[in-house]
Amino acid sequence: MGKFPEADAQIVKIVICRKCKTRNKKGVGMCRKCGSKFLRPKRKDIRAKK
Ligand SMILES: [Zn+2]
Repeated sequence: MGKFPEADAQIVKIVICRKCKTRNKKGVGMCRKCGSKFLRPKRKDIRAKK
């Protein structure tokens, strides 16, 4: 889990288009921008930059 619970809640609802990197809501099935079906969940294990 990240530092901000609210951010985590948002992150799990987001998928990223592998083609154009657009953020989409989870469950849309396809990218809203380019129509690609290649979506991946947004990483939940992002570490804070140091
Ligand atoms: Zn796309």
